[in-house]
Amino acid sequence: MSLFSTTQMKCPKCGESTSAEEVGSVNADRRPDLREAILAGTFQTIKCSHCGHRFRLEPDFNYMDAGRGQWIAAYPAPRILDHLEAADEMSAVFENNFGAAAGKAEQELGKSLTGRVVFGWPAMREKLLIRDRGLDDVIVELLKLDLLRELPEIPFGAGTALRLVELAGPDMTFAWFGPGVGDSQRVLDIGISRYQDIASHMDEWKDVADELTDSAFVDMQKLYLGEGRDAQA
Ligand SMILES: [Zn+2]
Repeated sequence: MSLFSTTQMKCPKCGESTSAEEVGSVNADRRPDLREAILAGTFQTIKCSHCGHRFRLEPDFNYMDAGRGQWIAAYPAPRILDHLEAADEMSAVFENNFGAAAGKAEQELGKSLTGRVVFGWPAMREKLLIRDRGLDDVIVELLKLDLLRELPEIPFGAGTALRLVELAGPDMTFAWFGPGVGDSQRVLDIGISRYQDIASHMDEWKDVADELTDSAFVDMQKLYLGEGRDAQA
């Protein structure tokens, strides 16, 4: 089931209270339109009933797509600073739904699902796009690391991320999201041969791949983020 609840929130433009249908969980098998809206970048856009201003809620929901074998805990972008805690939380929910304590059918279903944790809409959309185009998200993250070595001028850090935004034929388009990235640096086009190159040399990437997949947060950003907010305190 896809679950929504009606909540009141403050419009960021006029400050008046407006009602919003906030999503708690998405079932893409039953509601393919919601998956399409995530890919289109329109999901959870709210229109203020007072001034008409449109704004987008940060993601905070579970996403299930049994047909494509995806289960994703989507969190608000700022929560990336607590990525270890969020990944533990996701694992607990996943275990509860599909683990030893769940029914036989649920356990079977769980085996066919890849669980992931994402923070913010660009990361969420990217995971859906990667699966849609038949790519492997671990290899996409390795490719980003490979690309970063050639891009020393990019102000990379928490809040700045490189995301795959399109794949058309042999052309992959990545885009930087976050503050401090100039427009001319924002988009990066590369050939899919770079991806295929890594895919055929995974033995050379094993250590990094292991690090990327040590939790459901499969994102090269975690190699830069460290242990998170608690560890820094
Ligand atoms: Zn308003």
